[in-house]
Amino acid sequence: MHTNSIIELNRSAYQNNIDFIKKIFGKKVTFSSVVKGNAYGHGVVEFVSMAFDCGVNHFSVFDVQEAKEIKKTLQDQATILVMGLVQDEDMEWVIKNNVEFFVFDKSRLKEAVKTAKKLALKAIIHIEVETGMNRTGFDRNEINRVISTIKKETNYINFKGLCTHYAGAESISNHYRVDKQIHNFEEIYQQFCKNNLKPEIRHSACSAASIMYSQTRMDLVRIGIMQYGLWPSPAVFVTYLHSKKNKIDPLQRVISWKSSIMSIKNVNTGDFIGYGTSFMAKRKMTIATVPIGYSHGYSRSLSNQGRVLIHGQRCVVIGSVNMNMMTVDVTDINLAKKHDEVVLIGTQDQLSVTVASFSDFSNQLNYELLTRISTAIPRKIIE
Ligand SMILES: *Cc1c(COP(=O)(O)O)cnc(C)c1O
Repeated sequence: MHTNSIIELNRSAYQNNIDFIKKIFGKKVTFSSVVKGNAYGHGVVEFVSMAFDCGVNHFSVFDVQEAKEIKKTLQDQATILVMGLVQDEDMEWVIKNNVEFFVFDKSRLKEAVKTAKKLALKAIIHIEVETGMNRTGFDRNEINRVISTIKKETNYINFKGLCTHYAGAESISNHYRVDKQIHNFEEIYQQFCKNNLKPEIRHSACSAASIMYSQTRMDLVRIGIMQYGLWPSPAVFVTYLHSKKNKIDPLQRVISWKSSIMSIKNVNTGDFIGYGTSFMAKRKMTIATVPIGYSHGYSRSLSNQGRVLIHGQRCVVIGSVNMNMMTVDVTDINLAKKHDEVVLIGTQDQLSVTVASFSDFSNQLNYELLTRISTAIPRKIIE
């Protein structure tokens, strides 16, 4: 290994997840692969080209910078949807390149029309409406104005989608709120219909909503976490399994994160290990240093907590996770030596360190853990 660590993306695991997702949603529902946050830490350029090879041609991102990365990788072969920020100065590029985008307030709508007119092109927009999350989206009292603007500017606006986002569909405790959102979204859609203005498609579901509330699937699903082989929460996984006879997890983790031992040393009983006094050796120990720290995205909250695999055995992180390295206990591992493989996420022999396990040792969500993995680490697709 020439680098401190490497991220591997497993193509067959991804194909498995896509096949599963397409099977449960059926042919009529478009699958949009959500790749914001550097494709949830998987590496957007590598991930998107792998996904395209697996038959995915619709991607959703947060901002224009991410849209540009996909354009560079796939040119015009895929549809790109910006769900979040389009800066005014990026509007020209977006419209010229047929990049679709959420419009959630008046100023965005105005800017879209203005730029489209200047370019004599159509802006392809998805109107996001407020249904109860209270983040972005047009309020109920603004809808009539939106409708009249779209009708007036049909030469410059392609009203592609009507959409919303749910405030925590992964947790049963939000059931009442999400249910109300589903109802509100339907009412707003009816308001459009009454005014003889219909979007080409409607969409609202993220991974959790698509499983917990199947009526939210509509024409398109925006799937992030599930395509990476992870469940949005244990509740969603349990809900899915409940509906199945065989209790087998249909998803497979795509990502692995591997490093190798940098140095080995022996310490005596009573010695403190690393900065300060958070870990004292209660016996003679053998310690391996691994060149991974919080600057690479391995959280400091995993100090004295994290688990890695070496020689197919679980080893505990001891002392604090430093900026560029950490120490793990290899006392009970025979023959651990410099350059041996260290698995931070993934499988070695019979054991695995899962992404979900991190939330047991620190209170990181799987989403947070993944997106914190440094963009500088090389990504490699494996078969
Ligand atoms: C991130 C995001 C999604 C995907 O969420 P997952 O839980 O990862 O499936 C869908 N829609 C919007 C608006 C998002 O921001």
